[in-house]
Amino acid sequence: MIGLIAATANGRRRAVHLAEVWENACIYDGKPREALAAAWNECDSLVLFLATGAAVRLIAPLLEDKRRDPGVVCVDDAGRFAVALAGGHAGGANQLANEVAETLGTMPVITTASDSLGVPALDSLGERLGFCVENGSDLAGVGAALVSGEKVWLLSERRWPIGPLPDNVVSAEPPLPEPPPSETGSPEIFITDRLAEAPGPGRVVYRPPSLVAGIGCSRGAEATEILALLESALHEAGLSLKSVTVLASIDVKSGEPGLLKAAEILGVPLRFYTAGELAVIEVPNPSPVVAEAVGAPSVAEASVLASGAELLLEKRKSEKATVAIGRLPVRGRLALVSLGPGVDALVPPLARDALAASGLVVGLDQYIDRVRHLLRPGTRILTLPLGDEVARAEEALAEAHAGGSVALVSSGDIGVYAMASPALELAELDDIEVTLVPGITAAQAAASLLGSPLGHDHCSISLSDLLTPWEVIKNRARAAAFGDFVVSLYNPRSRGRDWQLGKVRDILLQHRPPDTPVGVVKNAYREDQNVTVTDLASLRPEEVDMLTVVVIGNSQTKLVAGRMVTPRGYLQREEER
Ligand code: SAH
Repeated sequence: MIGLIAATANGRRRAVHLAEVWENACIYDGKPREALAAAWNECDSLVLFLATGAAVRLIAPLLEDKRRDPGVVCVDDAGRFAVALAGGHAGGANQLANEVAETLGTMPVITTASDSLGVPALDSLGERLGFCVENGSDLAGVGAALVSGEKVWLLSERRWPIGPLPDNVVSAEPPLPEPPPSETGSPEIFITDRLAEAPGPGRVVYRPPSLVAGIGCSRGAEATEILALLESALHEAGLSLKSVTVLASIDVKSGEPGLLKAAEILGVPLRFYTAGELAVIEVPNPSPVVAEAVGAPSVAEASVLASGAELLLEKRKSEKATVAIGRLPVRGRLALVSLGPGVDALVPPLARDALAASGLVVGLDQYIDRVRHLLRPGTRILTLPLGDEVARAEEALAEAHAGGSVALVSSGDIGVYAMASPALELAELDDIEVTLVPGITAAQAAASLLGSPLGHDHCSISLSDLLTPWEVIKNRARAAAFGDFVVSLYNPRSRGRDWQLGKVRDILLQHRPPDTPVGVVKNAYREDQNVTVTDLASLRPEEVDMLTVVVIGNSQTKLVAGRMVTPRGYLQREEER
């Protein structure tokens, strides 16, 4: 819940607006001091419509711990600024200041060092990967070193897709360097599931979600017994319970109350395998008794291995339960990112997030240039020339397979005549996490400049015969003509390929009138944008180039006040009534 507190008429007007448009916001009435006292414990964050001085005085006696206090945002009476005053990270004030800014049109003011420097905040590093900070970690000390540019070691047995890190963070991935960094005196960030690396002054330890516990149990096994066995097994193996990310078992146990309860207490999911799936897995300690009971000679060890994990600790037993522990492979991340047609404002917000979270960005020079300012310090860039599409996809995949976090970028939508298809064709194994960020295509961008030419059934045809034989292109053009589709022509003409557009025009002319409107849009939403509207008979291919998309209306498309409109049919239906 977000609490809103205002002292003046201006502040109150803005508070009322927020309360109306935000579902989870509520106004606390009365004198600010009393309203604040009431809101402090009930709300996750607060927006105070007060001067910063007044706000600081009011919240000072209430502040206790930045991990628990609500985040506080302060908006001035003129509504010019939304200041994240306290609880920037854990309290969510930085994020809230941005949201206030978005809704009220104020400017967000964020002063936490990591955010203003574009470096990751230690308390949320790896959050989206499921990392958790080990108690006793020196977040303040190491965080201060990080933002002040001091050398900080990043120590991990394995590579994790944590994204870009500023260059004062020195990665010592395996094998760890000699002498051990801990003897060099520099602050350290450890990413490990091993208990041996304990947190302390100058050291932050993250527990990654890396372990799977395979669990077998007989009917009636209590959660307490399962958890006690799990904890002692982890202790024996020197591993952290905080890194256990999933429990695995056999499906006949999917209703076993103790097992379900154990997973609930740990806050992790349960994954079940069938006896058939487990029976084919070779394990160190098969048991004929277990085979007799459930149809597979191992549950704990086999379900660890079935999860794709490496077995770290063979099965341990208590009266009614068995546990085995395994380590899961790291899944690297590949983001297939659409950059939209050109201007910054049409780069999707999800693309911005994906770029900021990627340690490596792969793409064509000209596209990367457009988004360089969205990359965080420490991001590596790989550009390969036009024509090296397969190499680009392979490089991106190799980085993800190595445990990195990589973005492969295309203009428009990456799924449309772009890099998503070759990348996904090559990504045969399900061993990396792939996300796609959609974007505005050239055809959509062009359409928006022309009017509403895509208001009814439409299709796109690429005239590039580099990868598609002309026969195929011609047949598709014929089918589009026959089907009376609005047609967007991509790659309409290049220096060495200049006759196809004329041929397609002639094919379409056989099925729709010569005065059918045609939009020719060059460099949509880029500096040299050029929009012209002509008709099919007058379309002059020599005025078209590779930076152009040509949108050809269907038999119903018309010009209204100079704009291309393909009727959806509503007005026609009205007329018939
Ligand atoms: N993935 C892109 C398409 C890449 S194919 C998308 O979704 O838009 C390249 C072709 O797209 C170019 O030859 C041109 O026909 C068209 N194109 C791309 N960007 C354009 C723009 N800003 N203006 C006009 N046409 C564009």
